Amino acid sequence: MKLQIDRIPEEGLHLAVEASSEILGLEDDPVFSEAGAVFGQLYAQRVEETLVVRGTVRAEIHAQCARCSQIFSTTVKDSGFLRDYSDIEEMDEVDISEDLREAILLNLPQFPLCNEECKGLCLQCGKNLNKGPCSCSDGDKIGAWEALDNLKL
Ligand SMILES: [Zn+2]
Ligand SMILES: [Zn+2]
Repeated sequence: MKLQIDRIPEEGLHLAVEASSEILGLEDDPVFSEAGAVFGQLYAQRVEETLVVRGTVRAEIHAQCARCSQIFSTTVKDSGFLRDYSDIEEMDEVDISEDLREAILLNLPQFPLCNEECKGLCLQCGKNLNKGPCSCSDGDKIGAWEALDNLKL
């Protein structure tokens, strides 16, 4: 994703940019993969010999839930994107791909969850508990009742 310097007027320019998801380089990531293009709602302004670019960068990402291992999609966003590029008088264009990539990668969730309430997997049988209880938990309940019966004796 390159910005043409000579297209940016003195007063600045609002830009809607769209970069290929390939810039994210998530091919080998075990948890995250790209799900769509990287979008930027940016404002570029020349301040003497520096180009200042600010705005919001977002991308749709597939992530693996840290609790239940299901793949889900989420929007990763950096609403405080701000970069400056100096010495622009010697350039025709500025490549912002690497900075778009960094903005998304820095905002990936540390502990991705398909849902805040995700119940995760049963530690015993591995069933996804979001899809209903497994028979292990019934077993635990029976065990508890048996313990009560034993107390009565
Ligand atoms: Zn989950
Ligand atoms: Zn179970």
